[in-house]
Amino acid sequence: MTSSEQLPVAGRADVRRAAAHLVRADRGAFALVLGLNALAALAGLAGPWLLGRIVDEVRAGGGVGTVDRMALAILLCSLAQLLLARWARYVGHRFGERTLARVRERFVDRALALPASVVERAGTGDLTTRGTADVSTVGTTLRDAGPDLLVNSVQALFLTAAVFVLDPLLGAVGVLGLTPVWFALRWYLRRARAGYLAEGAATSEVAESLAATVAGARTVEAFGLAGRRVTTNRQALEAARRTRFHTLYLRSVFFPAVEISYVVPVAGVLLLGGILHAQGSVTLGAVVASAVYLQQLAGPLDEVLVRVEQLQAGGASFARVEGLARAPRAATDDSPVPADDRIDVSAVRYAYGRGGEVLRGVDLTVRPGERLAVVGPSGAGKTTLSRLLAGVDAPTEGSVTVGGVPVVGLGPKRLRRQVVLVTQEHHVFLGTVRDNLVVAEPEATDEELWSALGAVGAEEWVRELPGGLGTELGGGGHRTDGSQAQQLALARVVLADPHTLILDEATALLDPTTARHTERALAAVLEGRTVIAIAHRLHTAHDADRVAVMEDGLLTELGTHDELVAAGGAYAALWGSWHGEPSAGPRTGTGTGTGTGTG
Ligand code: ADP
Repeated sequence: MTSSEQLPVAGRADVRRAAAHLVRADRGAFALVLGLNALAALAGLAGPWLLGRIVDEVRAGGGVGTVDRMALAILLCSLAQLLLARWARYVGHRFGERTLARVRERFVDRALALPASVVERAGTGDLTTRGTADVSTVGTTLRDAGPDLLVNSVQALFLTAAVFVLDPLLGAVGVLGLTPVWFALRWYLRRARAGYLAEGAATSEVAESLAATVAGARTVEAFGLAGRRVTTNRQALEAARRTRFHTLYLRSVFFPAVEISYVVPVAGVLLLGGILHAQGSVTLGAVVASAVYLQQLAGPLDEVLVRVEQLQAGGASFARVEGLARAPRAATDDSPVPADDRIDVSAVRYAYGRGGEVLRGVDLTVRPGERLAVVGPSGAGKTTLSRLLAGVDAPTEGSVTVGGVPVVGLGPKRLRRQVVLVTQEHHVFLGTVRDNLVVAEPEATDEELWSALGAVGAEEWVRELPGGLGTELGGGGHRTDGSQAQQLALARVVLADPHTLILDEATALLDPTTARHTERALAAVLEGRTVIAIAHRLHTAHDADRVAVMEDGLLTELGTHDELVAAGGAYAALWGSWHGEPSAGPRTGTGTGTGTGTG
């Protein structure tokens, strides 16, 4: 029940390109952030430099007036730095929020463009984790880490440059003293990306495993699988714990190493500065200013490193969010137009993932307007065939075409004019009745919506709703019952107006009370369309124009009910056993009597 194939993850180059793209999309704000930060950093440099000047002035016998003036200048510069930095941060955060909105919107667009089969295979847990945890990590990065990284990098750069300006030799010692930080950073960065990616994947796995357990709670209970599910979830949690410990280990080596490294340049500059000053080649003020600069460097550098650390986690999340771009996209609407309504299945083979073949060479032509029932024992591949017919999945070999065009190649808009799969999954979307209907046909007018509702017998209760078509459904709004939900689903089918319906009976009409309410609605929907019914009740097969019998991934019989009964094959046996009579013709011994549920 856990995901076997997670969605793809973007590579480094893709992530860089996407990030550059985001910066370009808002380049004015980005440039402003950089500019303001540079100004703030410049203002920040004045303090230590003036302090050094004060030291020198005092040694040279300068008066209180000079010191006061310089102290006032320090105060003003600090104030300017404060204001500029605040402004920069404000602009930076706005930039971050806008960019995050872009990331979110793109994520939703891409998620919606994913073919159903990809989402199905990846599991909703992975997609959900990416849409929630990963997007908010990217958000934090953009809102806080990104701007802070900019602010502090600029500051660190200016501080270092300032020491060089004061005295190149002192600057060299300072930078040399910082090399351990660089080594620690390299060690960390080499391991961090993989570590955080693994952590993200493990978190997805936990979400997926939990979601599967909750979704299948009844099955779990009915089959006494609780123990096994607990074990699976424990394993997922254990794996997640291990990945977290690994990243924690990386951090706990990295940060202490860095902390110690900060002291080195200050100590170096004080030592060397002392010697140089004794020789008279550098003023005491310059040594003081350099030491203060390097001392101050610890703050921004620390921030930079923390942010780089966050950027790693953010980058890994961004790679997962951007990964959706790599997933196969659903076909677009510029696909070729089917020539007619004929559906052809030719030499179709299909295997799920790494499993064995479920369809082993199926040929079938569905004539426009006919009712075709597909029967056969459970596991024969009927549902799989219906998924291929509806374009949910592509055949591994062979082709399924409508009017000469592969069904999977059709864009969603064109596809729903052709083939629609009707199942029990009649989802009521949070939104108004109108919202629930126009998903099938965005351009539908209210008259068309009412007539679709009328066709499925839902007009009456919708008219009685306080807001009519504008009434909110689900959540805090009107609560729909099972048959209303099904009517809405059928009304969507009417609006989409496909020429062919694939009906999975087992799921479409499982609930008998709902079925009674909607049987007439369903009949109205089927009217005038080609219907391919996966028949679990033999009377459906009896009423169909033709019956196809599937056994073990092959289409073994095809003909009218009467023909097949007369032929005395598998279908005849099935029909016979359903009627509680011995079958008419000779049994071929394929064991078909064990067939599908017949009621
Ligand atoms: P039917 O509808 O006739 O009962 P299905 O098409 O559901 O048959 O299943 C055919 C075979 O494919 C079965 O052996 C089933 O176990 C397998 N199968 C169905 N769905 C999946 C899936 N999502 N992944 C792997 N195997 C599957």
